[in-house]
Amino acid sequence: MGYDKALVTVVENAKLTDLIWQKTNVEIKTIKIAESDRPYGMMVGIPGRPQLLLSRGLYDNFAPDEVEYVVLHEAGHYALAHSVKELLLGLLLLVVGIWALKRTRKPARGIVGAITLGLIFGVAMIRLGAFNELQADNYAVTRMTNPEGMIAATEKFRGHYGKSLTQNDNKLIQWMFYRGNPYDNRIKIAEEEMEKRGELQVN
Ligand SMILES: [Zn+2]
Repeated sequence: MGYDKALVTVVENAKLTDLIWQKTNVEIKTIKIAESDRPYGMMVGIPGRPQLLLSRGLYDNFAPDEVEYVVLHEAGHYALAHSVKELLLGLLLLVVGIWALKRTRKPARGIVGAITLGLIFGVAMIRLGAFNELQADNYAVTRMTNPEGMIAATEKFRGHYGKSLTQNDNKLIQWMFYRGNPYDNRIKIAEEEMEKRGELQVN
């Protein structure tokens, strides 16, 4: 048994890692390329050791301006300690949940309580995640050399995933279960940034 192909290839790309350093002060030494055709990027490191993972589909098919959006968004998650905050909220909710359920004497009530708490806590985690996704997009767009790259990358993501990943027609379902910043909103953020920069140049 064994894999014909490595699942992750480590690459050095000084141009990209220098760009990340200059714009975010996040030091990435090497980039991990996940051998997958689906376009995605993520930060998988721990505090003090950020690890940037990009898929092959993204690394090979996205233009430099589009890659810049993805890596600045991911660096934003790291710089703003999003995974730490999400972990802490998760642990806090776990402790609160165990404490609350221990106080329940009747088993039937315990099951209903567990399901209710699980749902409320799950939505709380989603809301923090949605806040963090929006914050990472705002962090990225203000630092981008060319915010049009954010629009182009968003259209590529939309072309690949459709709206299923970030959007639901039901606003309540969207609020409760979707953490991703909807594609239309990302484009709006990029357009607003371009407008802002345009006004600065005129005045
Ligand atoms: Zn994100």
